[in-house]
Amino acid sequence: MLIGSLGKGFRLPRGILSKQHCTSLYSTIWQGEPTFLEAVDIYFEKAAKLAAATPDILNQIKACNNLLKLQFPLKRSDGTVQLIEAYRAQHSHHRLPVKGGIRMAPNVEANETMALAALMTFKCALVDIPFGGAKGGIKVDPTKYCLLEKEAIVRRYTSELVKKSFIGPALDVPAPDYGTGPQEMAWIKDTYEQLRSDINGSACVTGKPLEEGGIHGRQEATGLGVFYCLREFFNSEDCVNSLGLNLGIKGKSFIIQGFGNVGRHTSTFVQEAGGRIIAIAELGGGLVDESGAGLDVGQVQRYQEQHGTISGFPRAKTVLETSSLLELPCDVLIPAALESQIHTGNAARIQAKLIVEAANGPVTPPAEKLLEEKGIIILPDLLLNAGGVTVSYFEWLKNLNHIHFGRMSRRMEEHGKKELLNVLEHQFGNGNRLSEEVRKVLTKGNTEADFVSSGLEETMLVTWEKVKNTAKQRGCNFRTAAYLIAIERIAACYKVNGIFP
Ligand code: NAD
Repeated sequence: MLIGSLGKGFRLPRGILSKQHCTSLYSTIWQGEPTFLEAVDIYFEKAAKLAAATPDILNQIKACNNLLKLQFPLKRSDGTVQLIEAYRAQHSHHRLPVKGGIRMAPNVEANETMALAALMTFKCALVDIPFGGAKGGIKVDPTKYCLLEKEAIVRRYTSELVKKSFIGPALDVPAPDYGTGPQEMAWIKDTYEQLRSDINGSACVTGKPLEEGGIHGRQEATGLGVFYCLREFFNSEDCVNSLGLNLGIKGKSFIIQGFGNVGRHTSTFVQEAGGRIIAIAELGGGLVDESGAGLDVGQVQRYQEQHGTISGFPRAKTVLETSSLLELPCDVLIPAALESQIHTGNAARIQAKLIVEAANGPVTPPAEKLLEEKGIIILPDLLLNAGGVTVSYFEWLKNLNHIHFGRMSRRMEEHGKKELLNVLEHQFGNGNRLSEEVRKVLTKGNTEADFVSSGLEETMLVTWEKVKNTAKQRGCNFRTAAYLIAIERIAACYKVNGIFP
């Protein structure tokens, strides 16, 4: 069913989420707390009060433009038929295409999808990527379906999107999110290309495997973006002084919630920089380091790949009540699982000094207030996990260009550098020549991976500086600063378009 253009203020009923302390394995809505969508609206309104934009434009920016609700049958491998519920929300078309991941989880619903789509709008504007915001969700627990069933679900979902013009390189470009990855993106691309003769077809989705037009570095992009911001935070004297910590990541203690794509890569980069991962919270069991040196992330990952869980990893203590791990003393807590994980029910017990929102929406607005009263600083999702969409943007550009970054320039750069070295050696070398090993390093041309990591680092660093300075100049926290930058950019776009006076 196409719900179509939604009016300002449109909200679907809260249903089960308004029940007292409704906890599932996946997410928690504490009694009296706003839903995820309400939380995004609250954060938006806080920034909107400071924004240089008219109420009409602000109303347009806040509203979700389109919501597509789908229902289709799946014939399961045991012969039974199951109805699958799915969504695609397009929050803002101020720039095209709209962009946002596809989530596969049992708690997917319309309001959550709209909340995530709104975050995508603000995130893209914040990191200055020319996309509107969107998000998709399929209400299934992917661990309960075999590969063939999952493929059938994703292909049917995609063909529904094609039929309704909710996917295409110039329209709407999905990507991976919670519960999906490169395999699902490959199915989406293949289905789209079977149904549409489109020379740019491979740009209909990002996060694809390399063989299918993906880009080097997309898998780890979100975690690397989180790491770049963390590194900048810990390199800033103002920031670390405000927490009573010293400079640098080295030696700091970290707790991670969610050891999936984002959590695993973030932990790896933190560990490489000398941070100590003292606990990991996962569904069905978490780990606490007892050695004092921190968990070895690579070993935990290998154990997870072999056993399908991190629970029981031999070189750490397994804890079954994993939500309690968020409350252990540490320097940095990184929620990298789902929304609403830090709420009024646990905020008072959080002992971290810094919370880094690698997941979307992990801290509710009332919890944020409690945490800030305790002096805890929050680095917001809009900025922190924007690395994923940034590298997705590079992948989309690569697909539209039909050539990978570096193909035309790499050897040219190498020849130029070799020429220069030859001249320098001839002029100043007194007959000596650099070793072949050193020459190789100095004359290396840039590969696609080099372009991606440079573009990602540039994006995260420039945006972090902007958020930090805006927070200082406008007297607000980092989250409000991030929303403010995004809102004012989108407002400027509407103004130039000439619709609003
Ligand atoms: P994922 O499915 O790869 O991993 C999520 C992990 O969290 C899973 O291992 C799951 O078991 C675990 N988990 C779920 N609920 C938990 C709980 N209550 N306690 C502990 N662990 C729990 O998903 P992902 O891609 O890593 O996404 C994680 C978050 O990051 C989501 O909020 C997503 O929207 C956000 N995000 C992802 C990307 C991306 O590129 N994948 C980009 C931006 C934002």
